[in-house]
Amino acid sequence: MKEFLRTKGFKMTPQRELIFRAFFELERNVSAEELYEKVKEKDSSIGFSTVWRNLKLICKVGLAQEINIGDGITRYDRLTKVPHGYLFCLSCKKTIEFNVDQVVGVLAQAATDHKFKNKGFKIEVQGYCKDCQKKKK
Ligand SMILES: [Zn+2]
Repeated sequence: MKEFLRTKGFKMTPQRELIFRAFFELERNVSAEELYEKVKEKDSSIGFSTVWRNLKLICKVGLAQEINIGDGITRYDRLTKVPHGYLFCLSCKKTIEFNVDQVVGVLAQAATDHKFKNKGFKIEVQGYCKDCQKKKK
């Protein structure tokens, strides 16, 4: 995520990281107020305007979009989950997540280079996990 933002020319500060994480942890569309409530639980020093600004930023880099359902409240819908890579075991079907912050930077750049509208990432490595390799021997 840090790398991703850096490729877009944004710095990831600890505050910003906390807000981003809170946003992606909420598994639904949220308003700025709802996100602020959640952020406040973790760090009460972060003000509402900071949360709001960062929500705008999340939209600007293409990770979320504003939605209005006509009740006067702007909510935010994430366009991608927090990107993760997956190791997929072909034998036991287990998936192991790993951090792909650096890879995502490369993918986002590739999308930008080809004027491709980025809607999400999928990074999967197929193979056999440690346990299944042992069983095979
Ligand atoms: Zn396995």
